[in-house]
Amino acid sequence: MKDRKTLVIATGNPNKLIEIQSLLKDFPIAVKSKDEAGLESVEIEETGTTFEENALLKAKGIQQYTKTMVLADDSGIAVDALGGAPGVYSARYAGEEANDQKNNEKLLSALKEVPEEKRGAEFVCAIVLLFPDGKVLKARGVTRGRIGFEKKGRGGFGYDPLFELPEGKTMAELTAKEKNEISHRGKALRKIKKLLEEEFRKEPKE
Ligand code: IMP
Repeated sequence: MKDRKTLVIATGNPNKLIEIQSLLKDFPIAVKSKDEAGLESVEIEETGTTFEENALLKAKGIQQYTKTMVLADDSGIAVDALGGAPGVYSARYAGEEANDQKNNEKLLSALKEVPEEKRGAEFVCAIVLLFPDGKVLKARGVTRGRIGFEKKGRGGFGYDPLFELPEGKTMAELTAKEKNEISHRGKALRKIKKLLEEEFRKEPKE
């Protein structure tokens, strides 16, 4: 059976899940996490070379089990002085045993000699929504800033304490609501929501 009434979110990250579920609460669809769909043990390898490719790999990997609509995202940070690295390798930047602390230390050390004006960077988020018939909706969100010389702030996760916004605060110094308003993921999610609304408008009412 091809199910267009249920949307499964291909993430095990509880923060992402809450954000996505709250944004989609007005739609006439049941939004389920990967775990709620009984797929907690399913891990999809991110072998793509772009954020979009990885998001699509995750969505297809989950849809083969659920046959429902699936929403998947992939995100990371691209640093100008590093030619766009770590990019799709952001989570694993410091190696297989990487964590946020190690990744941030590695980034600070890679930029040790780089002056303030050359420390530009961007957070990127690609989201895909895959329908049971194979149709794909895509959205991308980008937020520019620069990499600071030390960590600041306790909010967020990942590279947030190093990511300085044009106004001067780091992403980790924002509240969750403030971050959502300007973040790459917030932007991409709002775009995908619009595309989904259009898609539902096209569909004849039962
Ligand atoms: P993924 O989309 O879960 O694969 O995330 C990839 C990696 O990018 C994360 O582990 C973080 O290191 C980084 N990242 C993605 N989004 C953010 C963000 O909003 N703040 C800080 N780091 C992020």
